[in-house]
Amino acid sequence: MLDLSSFDLSTIPVTENMIDAEKVAHVQLQNPLEHALLVLTKTGYNAVPVLDLDGRFCGIISKSDIVEAMFGIEQIEVEQLYSKTVEDVMKDDIPTVHMSDSLEKALHVLIDYSFACVLDDRDKMVGIYTRREILKQLRNEFYQQRS
Ligand code: AMP
Repeated sequence: MLDLSSFDLSTIPVTENMIDAEKVAHVQLQNPLEHALLVLTKTGYNAVPVLDLDGRFCGIISKSDIVEAMFGIEQIEVEQLYSKTVEDVMKDDIPTVHMSDSLEKALHVLIDYSFACVLDDRDKMVGIYTRREILKQLRNEFYQQRS
């Protein structure tokens, strides 16, 4: 059985196994929805961070945000992809973690979101921490205990 008493999330820095910002697909506030849909489709992700021109975190945009924005009263309005921007439809009330936080803080965010954005003091995104990473750490702990 997995004994989690030695696996203290409050002592593991969130930066330890995060995905660094340069490897994170993102879009910018002023990008048209068409560009965001392209990024989401090509990467296969359901959602990606939205940054401003200085790399500061502004929110998250998902495929469902875009599809919802395209629903007109009677039909899907494809032209919305060109007339609306990421800023018009993204969600900005997203909890984040600071780069000095531990995994414990990220765990709380990951209950409701599939990834947590890791920010510096100026709100610049330095990386993301995903559900997959936390599960990988749990798996490693499991195999270490078995060996
Ligand atoms: P995962 O736990 O690996 O399934 O990732 C959870 C979510 O995090 C994905 O669905 C994406 O929304 C986001 N994500 C993971 N890796 C990246 C990446 N390299 N760039 C942008 N978003 C990512």
